[in-house]
Amino acid sequence: MKKKTLLITGGMGFIGSNFIDYIYDKYQSYSIVNLDALTYAADTSNLNLKDDRYTFVKGDIRNKMFLESVFEKYKVTDVIHFAAESHVDNSIANPIIFAETNVMGTLNLIETARNFWQEKPFKYKEKYKDSRFHHISTDEVFGTLEENGFFTEESNYLPNSPYSSSKASSDLIIRSYKHTYGLNTVTTNCSNNYGEKQHDEKLIPTIIRNALNNKEIPIYGNGRNVRDWLYVKDHCKAIDLVFHNGKSGDVYLIGGNNEKTNIEVANTVCSILDRLMPKQTSHRSLIHYVEDRHGHDFRYAIDNSKIRDKLSFMPEETFETGILRTVEWYIEKYKG
Ligand code: NAD
Repeated sequence: MKKKTLLITGGMGFIGSNFIDYIYDKYQSYSIVNLDALTYAADTSNLNLKDDRYTFVKGDIRNKMFLESVFEKYKVTDVIHFAAESHVDNSIANPIIFAETNVMGTLNLIETARNFWQEKPFKYKEKYKDSRFHHISTDEVFGTLEENGFFTEESNYLPNSPYSSSKASSDLIIRSYKHTYGLNTVTTNCSNNYGEKQHDEKLIPTIIRNALNNKEIPIYGNGRNVRDWLYVKDHCKAIDLVFHNGKSGDVYLIGGNNEKTNIEVANTVCSILDRLMPKQTSHRSLIHYVEDRHGHDFRYAIDNSKIRDKLSFMPEETFETGILRTVEWYIEKYKG
C-alpha cells in the first residue's frame, strides 16, 4: 500500500473522529494529520490515538497562512475535508460564521492544496501526482422533497437553510477547482448520520439524554419530517470507497435506505430505553411537540444507486441494529 499523509479536517467532531479511527486501523501505511479548531462541537476525548502515524494540529481553516504552513510542514498528499459548522439551528441563529467556515474555509483549503500540489493548472508536481481532495457534504444542498421521489447526483441545488446554502456554496467551489485547475477532487453528499460521538445538541443524543434525565423530549412541529438515517461507520466505509476508487471530479450520494419520521426515531429510541432502563411509565410520555424550525425541510431521501453500482457500497447496519448500539453507547456516556 502506498504511503500517504492525509490531512483530515474536523477530525475531533462526530464523523471526522469516527473516520480517523476507521482509516487509522485499516491503512497502516498512512500518516494522519487531524486539523481542528476545537470549536464547541469538538470533543478531544473522541480520539485517543498515540502513535507517530497520528498528529493533532489545532487550527482554523479560515486562516490561509496557517494552512500553508501545515501543508509545508507535513507534506500533505491528500485532504479529506470534514470541518464545518454543522448544526442547522445554529445557522438560523447565527448564519455569518457558516459562510466564514463552510465557504471561505473550504476555499482557503482547496486553494492551499492547489498551490501546494500543482506547478500550474492541470499540471501536478511529480511528487503529488496522485493527490486528491475529498470534500464531505450533505444531502441538504438539494433542498426538500415531497412524499415521493429521491435525490440523485443530477438533482438541482436548492438549499433552504443558511447551513445548507453554505455547504452548497462549498460544493460549487470544489466543482470549479476540478474544471478550472484540473484538481483531482471527489465530493460525497450524505444523508443524516447517527451513531457514537455525535454532539449533544443533535436530535438522537437529545432524545436519549432527556429521556434518561426524565426531561421533556422536544420534537419539532408534528414530528412528521422525514430523514434518511445512515449509521456513521457505514458513512466512513463509503468515504473510504470514494476516496480510493471514486472517479476524479465525480459526486456520489450516500444514503442508508432508512427513511424515518422524527417521531418514529423518538419512539424507537424510547422503546429501546424502556427495555434497557425500564421505569414505571414509558419514556414515550416525555415526548413533547414544540414550535417548528423556521423553513424546516419536509423530507430528504437518497437514491443510492450510483455508489452501489459503481463502487459496490451497501450499508451494513440496519436502523434497528445501529440505533441499539447508539443508545447503549449514550447510556454509558450519560451515566457518568
Ligand atoms: P461536527 O459539528 O460534529 O464536527 C465539526 C468539526 O469541525 C468540529 O470538530 C469542529 O471543531 C471543526 N471545525 C469547525 N469549524 C472549524 C474551523 N473553522 N476550522 C477547523 N475546524 C473547524 O460535524 P459532523 O456532524 O461530524 O459533520 C462533519 C461533516 O460532515 C460536515 O462537513 C457536515 O456538513 C457533513 N455532514 C454531516 C452529516 C451529519 O448527519 N452529521 C450528514 C452529512 C454531511
